[in-house]
Amino acid sequence: MNIRNRIVSVLIVTVSLLLAAFCYTAPRYIDGFSEALSFLTTIAFLVIAVGYLVVMLLRSRSAYDKNEEILTHLLQSVGAMVVMWDKNRNCISVNETFTNITGLTIEDLRERKSINRIVSGLDASDKKNITKKDISVDIVAKDGTHIQSVWNTSLIKSEGKKVYVSVGMDTTKDYEMQRKLYSFSRELAETENRYTLSMELSEIGVMLKKCGNDNFYISEQFQTMIGISNDFVPVATIRERVHPNDRVVFDTYCSLDESNAKTHSKVSSIEIRILSADDTYHWYLFRYKVSEHTDGVMIGGAILDITKDKTKDALIEEMAYVDDVTGISNRNKFMMIGQETYDCSVELGCAYWLVILDIDNFHIINDTCGYKNGNILLKSVAQVLLKNSQGSSFVARIGGDNFAILIKDDGDANHHVEIIKKIQEEIGGLATGMFATQTITCSAGYCRMPEDAPSFDKAIDYAEFALSLSDDARGTIMRYNRKMHDSIIAGNAIENELAKALENNELVLYYQPKINLSNGEIFGMEALIRWVKPNGQVVPPNMFIPVAEKSLLITKISRFVLREACRQNKEWQDKGLPKITVSVNLTSTDFYQSDVLEEMKKILSETGLEPSCLEIELTESLALKDIDQAVYQMNEIKKLGVKLAMDDFGTGYSSLSYIQVLPITLLKLDRSFVMYLEDDEVSREIVSAVIRIAKSKQIETIAEGIETQSQVEILKNSGCDHAQGFFFGKPMPADEFEKFVREHAGKKMIV
Ligand code: C2E
Ligand code: MG
Ligand code: MG
Repeated sequence: MNIRNRIVSVLIVTVSLLLAAFCYTAPRYIDGFSEALSFLTTIAFLVIAVGYLVVMLLRSRSAYDKNEEILTHLLQSVGAMVVMWDKNRNCISVNETFTNITGLTIEDLRERKSINRIVSGLDASDKKNITKKDISVDIVAKDGTHIQSVWNTSLIKSEGKKVYVSVGMDTTKDYEMQRKLYSFSRELAETENRYTLSMELSEIGVMLKKCGNDNFYISEQFQTMIGISNDFVPVATIRERVHPNDRVVFDTYCSLDESNAKTHSKVSSIEIRILSADDTYHWYLFRYKVSEHTDGVMIGGAILDITKDKTKDALIEEMAYVDDVTGISNRNKFMMIGQETYDCSVELGCAYWLVILDIDNFHIINDTCGYKNGNILLKSVAQVLLKNSQGSSFVARIGGDNFAILIKDDGDANHHVEIIKKIQEEIGGLATGMFATQTITCSAGYCRMPEDAPSFDKAIDYAEFALSLSDDARGTIMRYNRKMHDSIIAGNAIENELAKALENNELVLYYQPKINLSNGEIFGMEALIRWVKPNGQVVPPNMFIPVAEKSLLITKISRFVLREACRQNKEWQDKGLPKITVSVNLTSTDFYQSDVLEEMKKILSETGLEPSCLEIELTESLALKDIDQAVYQMNEIKKLGVKLAMDDFGTGYSSLSYIQVLPITLLKLDRSFVMYLEDDEVSREIVSAVIRIAKSKQIETIAEGIETQSQVEILKNSGCDHAQGFFFGKPMPADEFEKFVREHAGKKMIV
């Protein structure tokens, strides 16, 4: 019954009683108000007053019953434990949940008389208990077990009665976990004497998680450190607070699971920055291990704020680990992080992509835009890398125009390539402003760790090797593979052997005669290198020249050939042999060396050979690499008086138009032309046409690989000037060749 109704009812009862009293006494004061009327009206008002009183009582009784019914229903249906008790600590009711959890019924509580014996932490006389929330209580269940619970109690006044309603949650499981986590961390701390002894315990926090659980348990100390006031915090919440650059490390720790329990049972440590209570990043040392417990695997350990030490180290670190041009990590830092990442990937069975990027032709940008602007470009490139490698990646400048990135393999086979492509695209976009006239591209070589390489150092070598395969192409992306690896190993072995061979004079020159087709006499010789091993085995040049070309060895070898060929020719001339030309083959590396001319001049003057007795054989593909430079360099050689021959014409790009621009004196038709001369009309037509065009440009022609008399005849009839091949003589060692020349001097070698 509400207040308004009550007031109205009380007024009606009061007025009725007053009117009854008035009617009862009225005959004494009012004439004509008979005794009989007085009796009847008094009774009537009394009946009204009593009637209202009865209705009031009945109404309030049923409202009380109804309230109680609703309350009981509510208490029964909540999932929490509920106990209602009065101010004398007599239990009024308990709900089903309470009985289910504790095994105790209302009768048990009544028998025990006092609610305090069960809910021992609650005391109704203590007002604080009523208002204070979350009181931890140890309940002794019916079977004697202890149930950990947290209670909130409210005071309800119902119809003047004070009723206490206590609502409790069973926290036994959480408590168990907490207890285990504490004992685990204590155990951990004990095993790590060095740390527990040297650090004040109060400064060490604890961070732990159960495998498969997305929440960390964090101790009170750690809560204070990072300004979170919850025992259990989602992993994602902590990750959000971890510094973006440290998330790779943090993720690696989080990726530990049951399968790592055995392999990762020793204590490991990581250093990460976490956004802390004062809203700044603090450095934390987190020492953790994985250990098996009866109800699962726990990962975690002690966490310590090491910001002070780190600040001291920061300056040293900056000097040692930050690249001063770009402000990103330098090679030292990369080596450190890379090694840690490699070790983690081995231990945890995860994978990372190691990518090395190189700005194509950066030296040209440096040369044309200046060194300072070159640095500005490097800075911009570093920013592009940082921007595109956020999250689980690490970037550094590892030297000159080389950058490195570590990308966590997230299972998507294309993710890393997409990142590289995006970086390439954005780097291309840097060609604006002062770089507007440049084409800015970068190439990438990469490998997968640990799968592709047995160590981190090797992983760098392999990614660099993959990068080197792009040769002069721009914007390439190459992955390292084992086949390449094997070929380098083989190449390296040859290279090492070859270097020794050069020192031990195992490289010797053979000479093959060149015949003038018009008079049949020897008019020249080609110096062809051979590697004669101590056991007498003769290794042909195509087995080692390509390997030598990939290293500096080719320069040494070519200088040896040039000097030896000139020396030998001069010696034979001095001995009275006919004055003939010696041809020497040069590779592209030799030809484009800036000091090749100086070297030639020096050798000619030191050996005393006339420049006209020396011929340089170059290939077509070599000339096409940089045609302007090639023409310049050839003209310089020609100015010395040295002859120039184009070797292997007819292979590769073969274009007659080049004959017109290159200042050559001799064109060597490749053996592949000669081979089909006898049977193929088309080959004969081509050879005739080439010879005709060469003649029109005053260029002499020579055919290589002549093996038969009929080939000689066809070539002679086509107007070819000279010939070389087994038909006349195979390449021979110097002493044999000397004899050969003496035997054939002044004689015709063709009929
Ligand atoms: P090339 O300069 O075209 O040399 C001609 C090659 O053809 C030589 O092979 C020679 O032995 C071979 N040859 C000559 N006549 C005949 C013939 O009638 N039939 C057949 N089947 N082959 C014939 P070789 O000596 O094995 O040299 C191969 C290549 O190695 C040379 O091709 C040249 O490019 C390179 N080379 C040789 N010596 C040197 C050198 O000292 N320096 C450099 N850079 N390369 C060299
Ligand atoms: Mg040659
Ligand atoms: Mg040739």
